[in-house]
Amino acid sequence: MSSLLIKNADVLVTMDDSRREIKNGGLFCENGFLKNVSPTSELPSSADEVLDLSGYIVLPGLVNTHHHFYQTLTRAVPTAQNANLFNWLKTLYPIWARMNPEDVFISAETAMTELALSGCTTASDHLYLFPNGSRLDDEIAAGKEVGIRLHASRGSMSLGESKGGLPPDSVVDSEENILKDSQRLIETYHDPNPGSMLQIVLSPCSPFSVTSDLMRESAQLARQYGIHLHTHLAETQDEEAFCQQMFGYRPVEYMQSVDWIGKDVWYAHSIYVSQKEIELYAHEGCGVAHCPSSNMRLASGIAPIREYISAGVKLGLGVDGSASNDGSHMLGEARQALLLARLRAGIEGASLSGNDAPPIFTGRQALELATRGGAAVLGRSDIGSLEPGKCADFIAIKLDKLAYAGALHDPVAALVFCAPQNVDYSFVHGRMIVKEGQILTVDSHKLIERHNHAAARILR
Ligand SMILES: [Zn+2]
Repeated sequence: MSSLLIKNADVLVTMDDSRREIKNGGLFCENGFLKNVSPTSELPSSADEVLDLSGYIVLPGLVNTHHHFYQTLTRAVPTAQNANLFNWLKTLYPIWARMNPEDVFISAETAMTELALSGCTTASDHLYLFPNGSRLDDEIAAGKEVGIRLHASRGSMSLGESKGGLPPDSVVDSEENILKDSQRLIETYHDPNPGSMLQIVLSPCSPFSVTSDLMRESAQLARQYGIHLHTHLAETQDEEAFCQQMFGYRPVEYMQSVDWIGKDVWYAHSIYVSQKEIELYAHEGCGVAHCPSSNMRLASGIAPIREYISAGVKLGLGVDGSASNDGSHMLGEARQALLLARLRAGIEGASLSGNDAPPIFTGRQALELATRGGAAVLGRSDIGSLEPGKCADFIAIKLDKLAYAGALHDPVAALVFCAPQNVDYSFVHGRMIVKEGQILTVDSHKLIERHNHAAARILR
């Protein structure tokens, strides 16, 4: 039995059902789970490990619901800087096809380290290319090194150019191989228990790169094992036109036709949806990963997140792949969500008319998407808030920083209104993985060197 006591945090943001923010707050944890969350004066006075966080704000670890770790290898590629989604993909597919298992490992380690430093303690990743013998196992190995919780998605592409899809035939695989490997991964790795560090997700990539048969069979396999399903949906108008032409449906109707609606499904983006489709998501329990930076970077559009929230749709945040962001900063993504929601509201005619008007989208709502919202999207009831019984996943940020100078009348809002900062401490299941702003689990200097070497090789 190992215990951990965190005390004297200036503010402890619980994100519990009543959204308590505790002054001079603290936590007491045993074996990676929270036992007490309260003012410091009500906590046990000692533990195996004690950390005084006076001068810090503490909040639940952030949850990232959509990423492609491997894309750290192709950030800011000159020929893909000024392209929309389909052209960006066509430029990058042949470069990604040169990756090997070591590249998948090193890029995943890079992305997860960057995520951890930005406050992320649980990440979902979507790997959908397996060139030159690379496997999802390579990314899983990197996750174990970094020490964050991982929802590793076994992505897939089966609809190549010759069958009317977008990707070249060289990067797609047969349905038989995909399903066999998916089953192997579930049986080898998936842990559904509370406190799970690793879950497997099945994630055929998108309507324009996957056959309808593979969509149906993946859903069947996932439901046989009780695991979650994830895909890109309604990201661009090009995709909507593709679905109409190829399948005769709008993207969401297409999902209905292949049995991809339900509380075990979450979609990345979902920008181009009707009010009726939003209500369908809410009614059926489908989740959405909102990826504001990527949507702006590729000029895809602005997701209707206020409508999702009003309808009661499960909504989380995703930094999306590192080649369309081009970073993995979770707190930065929460800030982007705040700004973009307000821009959309402004375009639609709403105005910020002061404290008497209903708020358009608050800083606290942005943080909510990044914590309990993301946990709900991933189907996790053991993370996303700081409450007794939940996992001891939390982060701490020092408030005595230049970026927050003048904003300490509301340190919670300062996290997203002010320039995004890295965290000073991060704990996953009670284990410290970031200390005084440095990652403890990885040698980041060596990592950068190896990563840049790999990136230069595949771009050659
Ligand atoms: Zn994506």
